[in-house]
Amino acid sequence: MQAFYLHGARDLRAVEIDQPQIAADEVLVQIRATGICGSDLHYYLHGRNGDFVPQRPFVLGHESAGEVVNAGAFADVLPAGSRVAIDPSHPCRRCAHCRQGRYNLCPQMRYFGSAACSPPQDGSFREYVQVHAHNCHPLPAAMDYRQAALLEPLSIAVHGVGQAGGIAGRRVLVSGAGPIGQLIGLVARHYGAAHLAVSDIRQSALDLASSLWADQPVCAADPAAMARAAGAGFDVVVEASGAPAALQGAYAHCKAGGTIVQLGVQGGPIELPVNLVMQKELTVRGSFRFAHVFPQALDLLARRQLDLDPLISQCVAFPDLVAGFDAALQPQTIKVVVDY
Ligand SMILES: [Zn+2]
Ligand SMILES: [Zn+2]
Repeated sequence: MQAFYLHGARDLRAVEIDQPQIAADEVLVQIRATGICGSDLHYYLHGRNGDFVPQRPFVLGHESAGEVVNAGAFADVLPAGSRVAIDPSHPCRRCAHCRQGRYNLCPQMRYFGSAACSPPQDGSFREYVQVHAHNCHPLPAAMDYRQAALLEPLSIAVHGVGQAGGIAGRRVLVSGAGPIGQLIGLVARHYGAAHLAVSDIRQSALDLASSLWADQPVCAADPAAMARAAGAGFDVVVEASGAPAALQGAYAHCKAGGTIVQLGVQGGPIELPVNLVMQKELTVRGSFRFAHVFPQALDLLARRQLDLDPLISQCVAFPDLVAGFDAALQPQTIKVVVDY
């Protein structure tokens, strides 16, 4: 089968490898669709993602769905032919965080297509993956594989909105209108945010947000416009851009008593106006991956509460993966989905 290994910055190589073997509690999934994520792009551009540096070439990809083609003896709840979305989280299930239910914080987490662990965990830019049956979520017949591939980023957004500690009735700024920002906006709208502003430097991303969920688009490159939009401040700022100025701005634009959710990955340490945390009694919360919300995300899509199709800018065929990465790097692109 074919697999794409990342050897370094802008160095993705297609190779032929053997099909993986499955253990008794695993299934073999033929991947049908995988989304290209911002973190995949970080690895592709820089050979690393923030603090995560791969120690060997590895396979990216963690937003995927496919068809079960073989099931181990203890995984027969998912017979061959089952259509599934894959939750890429593989926590240890034994540490204190796992036992407390916060398995996204597990220090031994192996996440598909991630070098947060060493050696890195291969992901799904390959034709077949072996995965625990309990990581596979059966899809309703009406849900296509492309939508199912968006369940992982949707889960990130559901967790991020949850970290705000209540979104209904609140004035919210979503900073960054990339795929995660767009999903956060859709989820916040669904759960009753009273007012949703969005900031980005790309007009096309702001236009898409305005057409789908945003009340107030703001050009992030215009500080005066940003200050006007903030007015007395937002109850919640979800920072999903990873831009230093956007995170710094969140402290200024959050209302006294408000909450900042930091979700975007910064390239390194930055200076922050931390006295504002004290003076305004801000709550600053991180949001890292997700825990337990994959079924909730699946339910939102299955009941057609959200329409994610407008977020898919382009689809490419699996052998053209490198072209897909290059398309995903274009500023007007929101999400590229790879079809197999
Ligand atoms: Zn992702
Ligand atoms: Zn653990």
